[in-house]
Amino acid sequence: MIHLRTAEEIDAMARSGAIIGTLLTALDDEVRPGRSTKQLDRFCDTYITDHDGAVPAFKGLYGFPGSVCISVNEEVVHGIPSDRVILDEGDLVTIDVGVRLGGWCADSAWTFPVGDVDDASARLLDVTRQSLDAAAEAAERGNHIGDLGAAVVRTVQGSGLAIIRDLVGHGIGREVHEDPQVPNVGRPGFGPLLREGMVLAIEPMLSAGTVDIRTLDDGWTVVTADSSRAAHFEHTVAITASGPRILTMAPAPAGTAGVQAPA
Ligand code: MG
Ligand code: MG
Repeated sequence: MIHLRTAEEIDAMARSGAIIGTLLTALDDEVRPGRSTKQLDRFCDTYITDHDGAVPAFKGLYGFPGSVCISVNEEVVHGIPSDRVILDEGDLVTIDVGVRLGGWCADSAWTFPVGDVDDASARLLDVTRQSLDAAAEAAERGNHIGDLGAAVVRTVQGSGLAIIRDLVGHGIGREVHEDPQVPNVGRPGFGPLLREGMVLAIEPMLSAGTVDIRTLDDGWTVVTADSSRAAHFEHTVAITASGPRILTMAPAPAGTAGVQAPA
């Protein structure tokens, strides 16, 4: 069942989302060579729980052991934070954060470069980020879910990069994962109609190699089958009468334009 949220409920989700937006902005300084993914997980947990009533929504979700998911290089999603995974110059690290506050969830992911990365990795980040922006722009009432995936396909076409299609975005609200599914490939005009009040986690994932993925023996970590690098960008987006509203941005400081978490 697809829920339609009131303006007040969307504002409540934006309060969860703002914690993630500011956290991802703060992480830009925390992501550096020598850090373990467990250290980053602790930073995120502390950052989230320092906000009265806020909790990391992925902690314990389906039994997940971390507070956030941290995936390095060929890892696409659901990496488990570990003391043994130390970031190196040139790595890519995806930090996927869910927050629940006052019973409302938000979900956003960002892939960060660790120091200087090679040109191919920088391009993978750019195109994945652009594909999220294009899909979020298509989140207009009257469009269909297929228009979001179609926007990802249009952006990625000709880049030589592959869209991971076995993983999808999702509706979000009281729970992290709700209906509908939001595929990262689609056809314009197909799939559920986008209606005012729908809130979607839009999350394209691209690989520099194959579209195929597999899950490691830890039961969580999803990697590309050919060990090529992956990137993942995600925002929680509400369909409103005045267009798409991204709920997982850092709030703008007074007197400035909106600030987006760094790419
Ligand atoms: Mg996420
Ligand atoms: Mg998600």
